[in-house]
Amino acid sequence: MTLTKELKQKQQPKQGMLENVMKQFNAAAELVDLNPNIKKILEVTNNELIIHFPVRMDNGDVEVFKGYRVQHNNALGPYKGGLRYHPTIDIDSVKALAMWMTWKTSLAGLPYGGAKGGIQIDPKKYSNAELERITRRFTYALGENIGPEHDIPAPDVNTNAQTMAWIADTYMSTKGPSERSKNQHVVTGKPIGSGGLEGRDRATGFGVFLTIKNWAEHKKIDLKGKTFIVQGFGNVGYWAAHFLEKEGAKMVGVQDAFGTIANPEGISVEELMDFSKSNNGNFVGYPKSTSVAKEDFFALDCDICIPAALGNQITEENAHQIKAFLVAEGANGPTTVEAEQILLSRGIEVIPDILCNSGGVIGSYFEWLQNRNGELWELDEILAKLTKKMAEVFKRVLKTSEEKSLDMRSAAYVIAIERIEKAYIQRGIFP
Ligand code: GLU
Repeated sequence: MTLTKELKQKQQPKQGMLENVMKQFNAAAELVDLNPNIKKILEVTNNELIIHFPVRMDNGDVEVFKGYRVQHNNALGPYKGGLRYHPTIDIDSVKALAMWMTWKTSLAGLPYGGAKGGIQIDPKKYSNAELERITRRFTYALGENIGPEHDIPAPDVNTNAQTMAWIADTYMSTKGPSERSKNQHVVTGKPIGSGGLEGRDRATGFGVFLTIKNWAEHKKIDLKGKTFIVQGFGNVGYWAAHFLEKEGAKMVGVQDAFGTIANPEGISVEELMDFSKSNNGNFVGYPKSTSVAKEDFFALDCDICIPAALGNQITEENAHQIKAFLVAEGANGPTTVEAEQILLSRGIEVIPDILCNSGGVIGSYFEWLQNRNGELWELDEILAKLTKKMAEVFKRVLKTSEEKSLDMRSAAYVIAIERIEKAYIQRGIFP
């Protein structure tokens, strides 16, 4: 290879998530014959905030961090979406993720718009005390750009209930005493005891499981004895695997940032979690498995493939290798448009992210309502409500996909975009 060719290849940027979501949106806009004026509004984000903020580290030095909050659209209600802590975050990926939130909340029929944010850090490199100061200072810097009736963050990649508790406490502390408790629902995904919802931790993974189950029932497929692989063994991947295993399915491969393991005879989800906990969150080395090369993960023999980590994982390079008959997107944007075409042409169905992982934001909505109305809901009631809601959304997507002969992602987009278009048409554009 000549040097220039090599350089050119290196410089060729990998397709970003923003490009992917825009391709999906443009295709859907054509399908619904979206009003061109409304298309102009939806193809850009309403607000994009980049904040640099200083934080004192444990050793006394000051480090300056880069934080983001992108508010894509609020035609249907307050902005809603998670905050992720990851070194690869940039403005374009946050924009893409904010757009996906708009489609997701619209599809689920929630009174929310879409937003996303985060901090460009590798949280593993910081102590707990540092992460607390980073989170609190970021919250302070966001100021009134977030708010319980304006923009409501939630957990996402590398953030959790503890992160949300710090945000709620910091935000509430900036209010006068009589206002404080009215602001608890500035974030969702809080710990139980601090306004959190019973079961919010498992809501996304449980929702992933429910959509797979709804799909399997529709296809008259018994999940018992079916095999699955999961990419990401965090909150989404673990809980999806947990419920699938309870249903009688068998986990045969797992991948995360530490490595990839497999066992065609099955890997116990709970045993793997216990092993991982005793090994600083790393499951690699789990005795009843073999280590697999990173690039061979998607080629593992299985029935169901669950990408539940980051975006752009199933690409033109590996889509041909997938053996599963179903890809269920626990992550946001894990499959590129080109890869999806390959999967569909091979007869592999894809349950799209905006449907598959919507259990998380639906759980968030329940938490927000609970806080807003001063209520406390019980776990059974919450899981029953979530089950009902996920089934309704799934049926709506199925109906549209059958009526209009569309794949599930296109059908989901059609529903989501038409709902937003209707709101704009009813209200008109100010002034
Ligand atoms: N981060 C989750 C998602 O991507 C949840 C968002 C929320 O609850 O606001 O859907």
